[in-house]
Amino acid sequence: MMTPVMEDHLKHIYLLSRRKGCVRVSDVAEALSVHLSTVSKMALKLRESGYVSYEKYGQIAPTYAGLKAGKQLIGKHRMLVRLLRHAGVPEDQASEEAERLEHHLSWDSASKLEALLSLIEKNATALEHQSGVITEATSATEK
Ligand code: CA
Repeated sequence: MMTPVMEDHLKHIYLLSRRKGCVRVSDVAEALSVHLSTVSKMALKLRESGYVSYEKYGQIAPTYAGLKAGKQLIGKHRMLVRLLRHAGVPEDQASEEAERLEHHLSWDSASKLEALLSLIEKNATALEHQSGVITEATSATEK
């Protein structure tokens, strides 16, 4: 079981590895605004769980399991942000709350919310299209 802190560290290790290839302790510390020693400690814990390879003061590289888990965690975070945004929550607040909620939502519920979200997004597109048609119709009758 990963703790919320481990999850956040793995999420950023995943993102940084995608962006830059190799990940240094200082990159993660900067991304999370935490001390180098915290990153080093978490990297060792993540290594113990098989998510990264890491030698003290060296680079952190996600393993296959780490890449998979990191991708899933980012997916859950982004889904929560989108869901909150659709509910009318402002962007900053949505990402801040998703940052906390992501650690307390099961994968099962996350995939159900993801399905709900795609329904919402499909409807939103349909509604946008509809209101576009209505606007066009209204402006046509106004002429
Ligand atoms: Ca978080």
